[in-house]
Amino acid sequence: MATKMEELASEPAWTPVKLRAPQRSGLEERFAATDPTLELSRHPLVARILKNRKFQFLLILPNQIVFWTVISIGLAGTVDPGLNFGTAITWYVWFCLVFVMMVVVGRAWCAMCPFGGFAEWVQRRALFRRTQKALGLGLKFPEPLARFGFVLPVASFLILTWIEEFFNIAGPGTPAYTSWMVVGIVSAALLFFLVFERRTFCRYVCPLTTLIGTVGSVGSVAGFRTRDRDVCLSCKTKDCMRGSEDGYGCPWYTWPGSADSNLYCGLCSECYKSCPEGNVGLFLQKPLTSVIAPRRRRIDVAWGIALLWGLVLYQQFNATSAFAPVDNWLNSTLHFPHYPDPVDYLGFIAIGASIVAAVSWAVGRGFASRAVGFVRTGHFLDRSSRFRAFFAPVAYGLIPVVGADYFARQLPKFLQSAPRVVPAIEHIFGFSSTKSSLYSFSLMTNGWIVVTQVAVVLLGTAAAAWATWKIAGRELVPVSRNAIGVRVATVTFALACGAAAAFLYVLMHAAD
Ligand code: SF4
Ligand code: SF4
Ligand code: SF4
Repeated sequence: MATKMEELASEPAWTPVKLRAPQRSGLEERFAATDPTLELSRHPLVARILKNRKFQFLLILPNQIVFWTVISIGLAGTVDPGLNFGTAITWYVWFCLVFVMMVVVGRAWCAMCPFGGFAEWVQRRALFRRTQKALGLGLKFPEPLARFGFVLPVASFLILTWIEEFFNIAGPGTPAYTSWMVVGIVSAALLFFLVFERRTFCRYVCPLTTLIGTVGSVGSVAGFRTRDRDVCLSCKTKDCMRGSEDGYGCPWYTWPGSADSNLYCGLCSECYKSCPEGNVGLFLQKPLTSVIAPRRRRIDVAWGIALLWGLVLYQQFNATSAFAPVDNWLNSTLHFPHYPDPVDYLGFIAIGASIVAAVSWAVGRGFASRAVGFVRTGHFLDRSSRFRAFFAPVAYGLIPVVGADYFARQLPKFLQSAPRVVPAIEHIFGFSSTKSSLYSFSLMTNGWIVVTQVAVVLLGTAAAAWATWKIAGRELVPVSRNAIGVRVATVTFALACGAAAAFLYVLMHAAD
């Protein structure tokens, strides 16, 4: 009987293609490009800090204090959002800093996040001790929902952003709204932590997780990885996943033995503490490694990136003068009270995501080898998987420009208003007012803010073009008829995305 490969090879090919057997397999070859070599935890001081059970607690504690202060002052403090510490710190500083952490480090914010941190303390019934019995039901997240991967958290991010826009929370508007939003997030986190096991909320639901995970893959911290994958293969205990006396099993369901990016490492250090072989370390990597190098591209991540791209384009467009008439017309037609109309909100996002999908489809249709066969990665490429084979690499390549676009969106609030945090702090103690010189002090003029935004986007665009060139060379060229054509087409798309974002920033005139 003919083997599958022979059957496929005998199918008529529209253009000749050389069938190649998969290249050398094995751990070394599979992970060579993703395995970082620079280990931070080789330094004795770093190793001691990471082994200490108070490591993550001490990261979370200061944020926990700020977080409860934000809630209290948002509810009880002044109604002036520029002078209220809750709104000032959240919208003028915090969101921007989270983006800096993502781009430079990865999931640094997740390591110190008060939402997940607070819920985890309750779930574990401890601030930092290793307890053996968790509070709550400890259920597994339903498999059909888990299959949505990064798409489910994008849906919760879209809902949260729509609510935020509808009530003008991040404007910033009424300070109490900011408090209620934060209370809503931590309540949802607590509920999930008490119903489901580990950090199900962080992995499958948190509105921020897709954004932090994808944009964070640009960062230079590879996360906690295994030192020798062969040791993991023969390891009998798998304590990094199951937990030991010294540490919890990975709260993020990530096995260091197979991790090839920093996407799902919450930098909690539990695997470092629990591995009995001392086979886990904290590693650094070159920027963009977790975007370019992984061989396993996930379709849920690709859709997550495409939808996030649609959202940021919507936010940019709604800051231009062309947007209001569209939204007003839709609201009067659909009898919706005010901005943002859900139809144009979801419509824009869908269009943005569809453009990424449509371009991927068109590139696949235009360049894919029409013969069927083994490709260099050892996967089959047939017509039904053609879209997936092109969509995932194209979407991953856009991560740097999508990340840069979100970061540039935060700049006006930071550069125009961050100094207000000082009078807002003074106001807690009964000093200061809107007459403080820092209340109306901007770090930059609007003209320079636009220049900075465009520069940030262009930097992201250059990184996206580079990432796309590398990804296309490794993953699309082997399945394409025209090696140069497929690279040029995908890189041109990345450049066009960046050009569109930069152009919108010019039109926005530093509007936030
Ligand atoms: S995924 Fe969300 S809740 Fe979990 S640590 Fe990260 S930001 Fe916090
Ligand atoms: S416990 Fe250590 S050696 Fe065993 S699988 Fe986990 S990281 Fe590998
Ligand atoms: S246990 Fe290890 S792999 Fe899992 S999130 Fe924590 S640091 Fe990352």
